[in-house]
Amino acid sequence: MQKLFSTVLLMVTLFTHSFCQNTSNKGETKKAANMKYEIVKSEDEWKNILSPEQYRILRQKGTERPFTGIYNNHKEEGTYVCAGCQTELFTSDTKFESGCGWPSFYAPAQKTTILEDLDKSFGMVRTEILCPKCGGHLGHVFNDGPKPTGLRYCVNSASLEFIKKEE
Ligand code: FE
Repeated sequence: MQKLFSTVLLMVTLFTHSFCQNTSNKGETKKAANMKYEIVKSEDEWKNILSPEQYRILRQKGTERPFTGIYNNHKEEGTYVCAGCQTELFTSDTKFESGCGWPSFYAPAQKTTILEDLDKSFGMVRTEILCPKCGGHLGHVFNDGPKPTGLRYCVNSASLEFIKKEE
C-alpha cells in the first residue's frame, strides 16, 4: 500500500513538473506562482500612478485591442521598461514584426527574468508573462516566434514605457 502511494506520488510529481516546464530553454523565465514581489502597492496606489488603461491591463490582466497600442509599429532603438515599476523588460534588438497587432519580442532584455504563469482563461491554455519586480501583467508568450529562440513575447503597449537609446 505504501509502495503504491509513493508510486502515485512520483507520477503526480513528474506530471506536474512536465506540465509546468518553462517555454524557454535558456532559463530567462521563472514561474510566477507563489512569488513575493519586490514592489508591492495597494490598488489605490496603483490607480494613482497608472492611467486607467495601464491599470486595467497591468493590474487586472486586461488586453488592449490589436493594432491600437502605441508601440505596435514602434521602431526606434532603445529599451522597453515596465510601465508600473520601470524595470527593464525588453529592448528594440529583439523586437520583430509579428503581424499579430501587439509589440512582439523574441527574447527578454539581457539579465531580465520574465515571469510566466499558466493562463486558462477564455477556454484557451496560454502562458501569461508578468513583470518580475511588480507582478504586472504584460501579455503572453507563444512558441511561434522567429530564430534563435522560436518564442514570441506578445506584449501590451500599455504595459510598457519606451526609453530611447542615447546617441
Ligand atoms: Fe513592473
